[in-house]
Amino acid sequence: MEVIKISPRGYCYGVVDALQMVRQVAKDPQHPRPVYVIGQIVHNRHAIEELTNLGVVTLDGPDRNSILEQATTGTVIFTAHGVSPLVKQRARERGLNCIDATCPDVTVTHDLVRELVANNYYVLYIGKKGHPEPEGVLGEVPGHICLIETEADVDALQLTPEQQARLALSTQTTLSQWDTRRVIAYVRQKYPQVEVHIDICAATQSRQEAVVAQAKGADLTIVVGDPRSNNTNRLVQVSQELAGVPAVRIEDLSQLKTEWLEGKKRVAVTAGASTPSQLTREVIRFLEQYQPEAAEAEKSQV
Ligand code: SF4
Repeated sequence: MEVIKISPRGYCYGVVDALQMVRQVAKDPQHPRPVYVIGQIVHNRHAIEELTNLGVVTLDGPDRNSILEQATTGTVIFTAHGVSPLVKQRARERGLNCIDATCPDVTVTHDLVRELVANNYYVLYIGKKGHPEPEGVLGEVPGHICLIETEADVDALQLTPEQQARLALSTQTTLSQWDTRRVIAYVRQKYPQVEVHIDICAATQSRQEAVVAQAKGADLTIVVGDPRSNNTNRLVQVSQELAGVPAVRIEDLSQLKTEWLEGKKRVAVTAGASTPSQLTREVIRFLEQYQPEAAEAEKSQV
């Protein structure tokens, strides 16, 4: 079967650095034990399993504050998605050894919203409700920022005249750039004075643009990644909506259903920024060896 290996795909530098940091801490006895990660270091089950095998405990829960409550001693590592200053402060107050693996691209947004609010702006932040990255950014400037996801959220805003007069907008790093533009256009329509800062990171953008450019002409796009990975889910959406190619998401080869390949000649493969390369390579290798005609002939003989 013909396989289009979309490039770039898979691990971004923020994820590589975060994983490397956790591995180093796990191997360095100077860091007090146990070693906890506050939430999933990246949204990928396989990557977390690797760290569990090194003795690192991944804690999970509804938000970073309640996750932190579970760590009473030792070392805590904050994930690539970032945490609010309150979480960092509480960790220090509890005497925990703190390691910060926040991606520099996420830190840029934290710094930006602080600066905007220091300059008397009210901030609209486009992000995914329930995702840890908005939780961390909103925690930088509580009371001066509002999370929005859709046009309906924009309609529901109740801004004071002062907030409207000095209004700024920022975004989560892993959104679909096209969805984000649509919501921004809607905000601009209602609040033409808004100062816009698009903080979608370069890794997310380049992976989305590669799908649009390279998946065209394929019969199917297979996106390898975790269901909790926002940028993975956006790649599925980009293939369907912008490249016009149906797409499925799988965590690894075990989830690939051969009936999806029936009648298909060309399949494009990509992966989210938190997907270990080995998982994507296994999928590509399988597809390259897969012969749909042989599989169908075998089926008709049964
Ligand atoms: Fe950093 Fe972007 Fe990777 Fe997130 S997806 S870790 S923001 S480079």
